[in-house]
Amino acid sequence: MTPASLSATAAASTGSDTGASTASEQSQQQQLRCERWVARAMEQLAPSALRHQLYAYCAYCAPGAAYGAWFDAAQKHLVVCSSTPSPAATTMLVRHELVHAVDVLLEGVDLDNDDALACSEIRAYRWAQCRNEFWFLRASCVRRSVVPSLQQHFADDEKRVQQLITANLARCMQKADIVHD
Ligand SMILES: [Zn+2]
Repeated sequence: MTPASLSATAAASTGSDTGASTASEQSQQQQLRCERWVARAMEQLAPSALRHQLYAYCAYCAPGAAYGAWFDAAQKHLVVCSSTPSPAATTMLVRHELVHAVDVLLEGVDLDNDDALACSEIRAYRWAQCRNEFWFLRASCVRRSVVPSLQQHFADDEKRVQQLITANLARCMQKADIVHD
């Protein structure tokens, strides 16, 4: 499993005023800011059973990276790109990755199983990126959002991705939220 295998997309951060600070000072500030936001989101959202076995932190991501965060199941790492633009965006990314962490570390879900992987992605988008959509728009939001994540796993096999979403969408949308609200 690659580190970016359970990644979530985030809005790219907009270039901000650099002022007099050097690039490295700026990236250090970005890193510290990200760490603070991640810590706060973990405090608010992570089930206590998970908090002590999951290491959440920020890391540099290449500009234009297709993902904003990822969960590394083998290492038990939840990683957010330090370029994350705001507390709200960070919380959303942490919420998404926490669903994967709950599935794997608490529920024993095997993400090497295609249906289980699709289900975990559906749940993650349902409870993060699409959670504030009106209920009648939520399924289409999830369907739309899950596609790029699953395409990374199935080498852009569009037919397989659509098949997995159709087979799992309704069932996995209904699974209860395990991440704290
Ligand atoms: Zn995901």
